[in-house]
Amino acid sequence: MAAVFLVTLYEYSPLFYISVVSLCFVVTAAVVLGWFGFDVPAILRSSDETESILPTPEKQMVQVTNPFGLAMGYGTASVIDGISVRPFCLEPCILSCFWGCEVIAVQGALKSHQHGPRLSTPQHFQEAFHLRYHHSQSFHVSSDNNEEHYTQIPAEQGITDFGLLPRAHYPLVAVLTLAESEARDVYNIVASVTVIHVPDDKYSLSARILFQYLLTSQGNMFELKPLFMSADSRGVPGPPDTEQSTSPYQPTEEAHRLEQSSVLEEEDWSEGTGRDCVVCQNAAVNRVLLPCRHACVCDRCMSHFQHCPICRAFVLESFALTQEPVVEW
Ligand SMILES: [Zn+2]
Ligand SMILES: [Zn+2]
Repeated sequence: MAAVFLVTLYEYSPLFYISVVSLCFVVTAAVVLGWFGFDVPAILRSSDETESILPTPEKQMVQVTNPFGLAMGYGTASVIDGISVRPFCLEPCILSCFWGCEVIAVQGALKSHQHGPRLSTPQHFQEAFHLRYHHSQSFHVSSDNNEEHYTQIPAEQGITDFGLLPRAHYPLVAVLTLAESEARDVYNIVASVTVIHVPDDKYSLSARILFQYLLTSQGNMFELKPLFMSADSRGVPGPPDTEQSTSPYQPTEEAHRLEQSSVLEEEDWSEGTGRDCVVCQNAAVNRVLLPCRHACVCDRCMSHFQHCPICRAFVLESFALTQEPVVEW
């Protein structure tokens, strides 16, 4: 129909035909530009750019000091011979070692900290565990020395192993709490809970820390994860590789499902060398995306992404690693 009209028109007057076609083009161009503004039409943009219309809310973060540290001691460890642990504390602390603590009791205690009264003293933990452990032992830990503390189940209890897998008891749960009540008001972190595997005849896996949690006075719980860095001096930026080992202790699922992910989940964040932004490769990484916690983009690129460039998780919030304006090239 339109074609027949155009052919007729062309035969009638080529000049008039060209004028009509040009006019149609100009009108169409005007409509398109009026519709989209003098910007690039939305269909020509990448999906990430179109989403940048919604700015990601800025999350206010505070830095907290962890007064607790606990490492495995040197020497051999076994359920029969006991184990040495080495606390590192900024304040005088109490180290409570709960041997053969029921997995369910530990989970229940951690949950009760989040929903009920906070666990900040050894007595709180004893009550929260409902005495569902074989033996407990306490040590005073001073802040100025890092001596090892040796703990063991008394031989008269006759406990030599914790049975076959899967197990219902953790061999050792080491709890660090602040000894002085004044210190509890100073630190946000009020307790550290370390679940330790100790080898026995039934399960000879070498002694190791299975999980480490920090409990805050606000009722949050953060899991400390092992930090792995690139063996090269300057590695490829990327998410930290945390060791994901399946636990022989049951039930495992719920134990890991934390309501709060960790502020202290370390990133490969080495001495401000300015790992390049994964997007523009031109500025220092300064944005941590939440909830995935990937630190991978600079402030400038942040506004172009609604999804994490590393894991594609939807970005709900973000926070800056440094508040000072990042030096622009
Ligand atoms: Zn960038
Ligand atoms: Zn991510």
